[in-house]
Amino acid sequence: MLEGRRDRRAGADGVRAGGGRRTVVVALLLIAPLVFGAPAAPPAPRPSAVLFIGDGMGQAIITATRVARGGSAGRLRLDAMPYTAIARTWSAGGPVTDSAAAVTAMACGRKTVNGVLGEDATAVYGKSEGTRIESIALWAKKRGMRVGLVTTTRVTHATPAGFYAATSDRDRERAIARQAVAAPLDLLLGGGRQFFRPGPPVSGDPGWSADDAEDLETAARARGWTLAATAADLRAITTLDRPVLGLFADSHLPYEAPGGQGASPGEAPARTAPTLEEMTIWAVRSLRRGGRPFFLMVEGGRIDHAEHANWARTAIDEMAAFDRSIGAAIDRLDPKTTLVLVTADHETGGLALNGYPPEKEGIFGTTAGEEGEPPYPVLSFASGPGAGEPARDAPYAGADPRPSGITLHSAAHTGVDVPLYAWGAGAAEAHGTVDNTAVYRLLRAHLEGRRLDRAALAAP
Ligand SMILES: [Zn+2]
Repeated sequence: MLEGRRDRRAGADGVRAGGGRRTVVVALLLIAPLVFGAPAAPPAPRPSAVLFIGDGMGQAIITATRVARGGSAGRLRLDAMPYTAIARTWSAGGPVTDSAAAVTAMACGRKTVNGVLGEDATAVYGKSEGTRIESIALWAKKRGMRVGLVTTTRVTHATPAGFYAATSDRDRERAIARQAVAAPLDLLLGGGRQFFRPGPPVSGDPGWSADDAEDLETAARARGWTLAATAADLRAITTLDRPVLGLFADSHLPYEAPGGQGASPGEAPARTAPTLEEMTIWAVRSLRRGGRPFFLMVEGGRIDHAEHANWARTAIDEMAAFDRSIGAAIDRLDPKTTLVLVTADHETGGLALNGYPPEKEGIFGTTAGEEGEPPYPVLSFASGPGAGEPARDAPYAGADPRPSGITLHSAAHTGVDVPLYAWGAGAAEAHGTVDNTAVYRLLRAHLEGRRLDRAALAAP
C-alpha cells in the first residue's frame, strides 16, 4: 500500500516537472501509427504464482500468533488475504498425513501414501517405487518459467524435495540431494549442507553408505550452480543467469528466536544464514527480473519442528516470521498477474488456546480455573514431550515447553483440516472445502491462463 502511494506521488511530480516535453512525446505517438502503421500490441504478461507452505500451520497457531503479537483484534498479513478455503489433508494411507504425502498432493496433484515423495500410491514406503508424478515446479520449468524453492529446513527435507525429487522414502536425503543437483531449478535455498558433502555417513539416512565419497557441492558447481553458504554470499549474487544453490546450515536453519540461539545440534551457532523473509525477498526480486513468469515455493518449515517439541513461543516466532515473509512477497508482486496461495501440509501437535487469558503476553501464562480448581496453562498441546522433558535446545529454554495430553517423544501430526488463503490473479477460485490436491489444480489453471473446472477442483 505505502509503495503504491509513493509511486503515485512520484508520477504526479513527474508531470509537473516535464509537462512541456510530455506534450511533444504524446503528439509524436499520435502521429506514429499514420507514418509507420499501427503499433503491435504489447504481449500480455504471462501469469506467475507463489505457494507458501506453513509446515504444521493449523488454525490455532495462526490465532495464537495474532493474539501474542497484536492482541485479538490485531491483523496478521494472512488476515488481509481476500479469499479463503478449507483444505482436507488426509493421505492415501489414512486420515493423518505426513509432510511427504501432503507435499506430493499439493505439488503434484495426487494423493499418495505417507513417507513417499513425487510418486503415486502404488509406491510402498521405503520398499518399492511407485509411478513418478510431475510436480508443478518441473511442469512450469518446461514451459519456460523461472522456478525457485525456499525453505528454513534442509533443502532435502520432504516439503521442498516434493517439488523436484521422487522417492519411496523421504529419509533418503543423500539420494534426494543427488536429485537436487540434477534438478532444473533456478534457485534452491535452505539448509542441509551435510547431505552434499562427502562422507562420513549421516546417521539414520538409509540413502547414505559408509564408503560414500561423493562431493555433491563440487558436482553442483560442475553442473552450473552458483553456491552460497551465508546471507552475505546470497546478497552478493545479483543475477539468475546461473542457478543458485544456497546451503546456509549443515541441517535446518536456526530458529527465528531473538539472538539466533536455539540451533539444534549440528547447526552453526552464529546466525550467518539469511532469514526466511530475506530469502523470500531475494527470491521474488531475482525470479521476476526481466518480466519472466515464475513459480516460487516458500516453506516456513520450522513451525512444525517447534510444535513437535511443544515449544509454543518458538512456534509463534516461526509463524510470525512466515507471516512477515508472505507480506514481504505480496508487497512486491502484481495482483493482476500473480496468484499467491498460503496453506499448510497438516496441523501438528493439536495446539489449543484454553480459557480466558489477558491479551498478548497473557497467553503464555496460566488462567484461573473455576472455584476450587487450580490455574491452568493457556497454551497446551494434545500430544508431545510437554513440560516434563528438559528443553536443552529450546530458544527460550525451560520457559517454553507447554503441557501435553498424551506423552510422546515428539508430538503427532493431527488430521484436522487446514486453511487455504489466496491473493491476486485467480484467487477468487479458492473457496469452499477442497482437498490439498486442489492447490496443484489452482496453480496449474492459473499458470496456464485457463478457467478452473469447479467439479475437478472438488475431487480428491
Ligand atoms: Zn512434522
